[in-house]
Amino acid sequence: MKIHEYQARQLLADYGVPVPRGEVADTSRDARRIAEDIGGPVVVKAQVHAGGRGKAGGVKVVGTPLEAENAAASILGRPLVTPQTPPGGVVPRKVMVAEAAQIERELFLAALVDGEARAPVVMASTEGGVEIEEVAENNPDKIIRVEADPLVGLSPYRARALSVKLGLPTNLVHPAADLIGNLYRLFTEKDCTLVEINPLVVTVDGRIIALDAKIELEDDALFRHPDLARLHDPDQDDEHELRAARAGLSYVKLEGGRVGCMVNGAGLAMATMDITRWAGAEPANFLDVGGSASEDAIAEAFRIIVSDPEVEAILVNLFGGILRTDGAARGIIAAAQETGADLPIVVSMRGTNAEEGRRLLAESGLEVTSADSLSGAADALREVLGDAAR
Ligand code: GDP
Ligand code: MN
Repeated sequence: MKIHEYQARQLLADYGVPVPRGEVADTSRDARRIAEDIGGPVVVKAQVHAGGRGKAGGVKVVGTPLEAENAAASILGRPLVTPQTPPGGVVPRKVMVAEAAQIERELFLAALVDGEARAPVVMASTEGGVEIEEVAENNPDKIIRVEADPLVGLSPYRARALSVKLGLPTNLVHPAADLIGNLYRLFTEKDCTLVEINPLVVTVDGRIIALDAKIELEDDALFRHPDLARLHDPDQDDEHELRAARAGLSYVKLEGGRVGCMVNGAGLAMATMDITRWAGAEPANFLDVGGSASEDAIAEAFRIIVSDPEVEAILVNLFGGILRTDGAARGIIAAAQETGADLPIVVSMRGTNAEEGRRLLAESGLEVTSADSLSGAADALREVLGDAAR
């Protein structure tokens, strides 16, 4: 689960990480009042679950309360489009107004779980303020990594070594090491999957503070943190992922793909995404309807897939165990007729009532190609995509 910057910075502050004075506002009038309280230049920041706000006009440094009010008015209620939002953007419902910092240096600091290293890692870079993916691509040697022992934690000497490598002035090495230790403590105690500060800045007057804050929490650990679970903002959820969750489906939209995948079982879903790539295309989504999806759940899954304008073909790969493939076929047919979707569908069905399922689909009038193996499905997919491209 993602949380907003204003919530993340509060958590950082609770753990002793210095953040600029600031408050969140729902209206431009409130933004003005906060700017008046702070006095002096402030930064007005759109609160959305996406980074890249700065370049998109969602972060404005202003000099007076009136300018803060105007900045808030221009941000609130208008879709903000950044490389990390859906193409239509996300509408900010809140802005954060914080004391503006005078920046000397921008750094990057994050704690995350590294699946390959099978350990939490702390990453830092002298190239702050830039997306870390960009640094990884262009200046990989500028990224400093230290692994933490999952049981022992992050040893203080490692935190110190890290802050030395950041080239900080001597008097900031210890405060920075403390900050890194605190960040790591927050990361583990709150079951985060990511705590990222970008930029972490050294100010002109020689302090080190977190100017941005991004935290992602492990969904499966939220039951241990009811106070954090309450920070969930349904406004920021992907509409399709919400619908899918309500129908008991796990659905993740993948950017740039054109093949909608409907599969039962997470392992089979991964294999199906591989097949899609093998056929020369990218999957548009990961969708696991579950091992015992009903006809209605399958219909809803189909509706969600076809509501994605990027989808050009659908690959259905179902294994009938508890799930009845004839019911699945009925769900697909009903949803296709209801939505009027006329996309080519490649179907591979095995197991319970598969013959009946295939017969129903063949007689449905939909553009269905049946395949009886995974490689057959890849071949059929390659063919229908070739046709779609023509
Ligand atoms: P993001 O673009 O969504 O990651 O938003 P950030 O909070 O990281 O802000 C983007 C950029 O705005 C930062 O990298 C800074 O360069 C700049 N910025 C943010 N806050 C301040 C501030 O208080 N003072 C100044 N001078 N610049 C700021
Ligand atoms: Mn940032």
